[in-house]
Amino acid sequence: MKRSIPLKLKLTAISVCILTAMCVAFAISTIYSTNGLVQATITTPAISVDESMPAISVDESMLAITSEPSAAVTEALWQFRGTTVLVMLCLIAIGSALTYLFASRTLKPLEDLTERVQHIDIHNLDEGVSIPQTKDEAAKLAQAFQNMTEKLNLSYQVQKNFSANAAHELRTPLAAIQTQLDVFQMKPDRNAEEYTNLLQSIGESTERLSNLVKDLLTFTNEQGIGKKEPVELKPLLEETVFELEEYAATKHIEITISGKGTVLGDDSLLQRAFFNLISNAIRYNVDCGSIFIEITDDQVTIADTGIGIPDEAKSHIFDTFFCVDKSRSRELGGSGLGLAIVKSIIEKHNGYIYVKNNQPQGSIFIVGFNSNI
Ligand code: ADP
Repeated sequence: MKRSIPLKLKLTAISVCILTAMCVAFAISTIYSTNGLVQATITTPAISVDESMPAISVDESMLAITSEPSAAVTEALWQFRGTTVLVMLCLIAIGSALTYLFASRTLKPLEDLTERVQHIDIHNLDEGVSIPQTKDEAAKLAQAFQNMTEKLNLSYQVQKNFSANAAHELRTPLAAIQTQLDVFQMKPDRNAEEYTNLLQSIGESTERLSNLVKDLLTFTNEQGIGKKEPVELKPLLEETVFELEEYAATKHIEITISGKGTVLGDDSLLQRAFFNLISNAIRYNVDCGSIFIEITDDQVTIADTGIGIPDEAKSHIFDTFFCVDKSRSRELGGSGLGLAIVKSIIEKHNGYIYVKNNQPQGSIFIVGFNSNI
């Protein structure tokens, strides 16, 4: 690879070139002016003779005009030229040394930053970089770099936690299948009922696994909004409720939809978000409970009469893999990704979501859109 020239040497070289050009120009102009001055001096008589002046005796030599400078003048002239060139060279040398010194000192924080950045990797992202006290561009660059590493570190930690949680969630049903198979294999005589029970519980575990993988894929593959077109909320919600009718019937839950509204967005993504919210409202509802869905111009409210959410958990329920009661959620077939997917979809629609308590019991999820039409 071609060796690069350090910035401080480049800056010094540029300064030396400029300094040399200016010094040479100054020396040439000084020497040239001095030559002219000497020439003017030797062609001017020492005393000027005027007709009106009273006659006085003047030494003829004082009136003489010579074109050649005397030996003493020539020597002084050469001495002057020599001194000028010497001073010029000294100025260039001192100027170059000072430029190098200042360039090195000014670029030192950049060199330190470069060295630090070269040693940063994914394992020491949290160590960050030191910010020089200079308040100049180098300090701003270091600060910008520090902000970037902080964001990178945060997103790396989120990814790491996400992967760990995903692995843990995947391991649970797999471990359940493995245990059931081990126990089954150890049995000496296996009857038809035991075979049926085994197949049923393996079926439940694989269904859980496949739901989890589906949610993981949805969450990780979710890109921006595919299309942005007016979406009538009432038919969309009616269709979603129709899909969940069977599930609601298992708990004898009544679902009511009122009002209407239109938002700008992607109907399939919105349907996915409302599907998760309504299926949660069924999952965490009591037997013979109810769900009220109210649509206005810029909001959809989903109120249930279920078990409700404790106040301290309200700010976490939209986090990935968060469950108020893990074993209960698992039992009910939840993956802990449903509300994280909802939040991500709603935010892509320039909207917001929050939860509050229903009276006398249950939760109310409020989904608001800023881009309604
Ligand atoms: P899960 O797949 O476990 O349901 P979600 O992300 O959909 O995951 O929900 C996160 C947690 O929020 C759930 O474990 C549950 O405790 C709580 N939750 C969500 N919706 C409701 C609701 N309508 N009523 C009560 N709790 C709810």
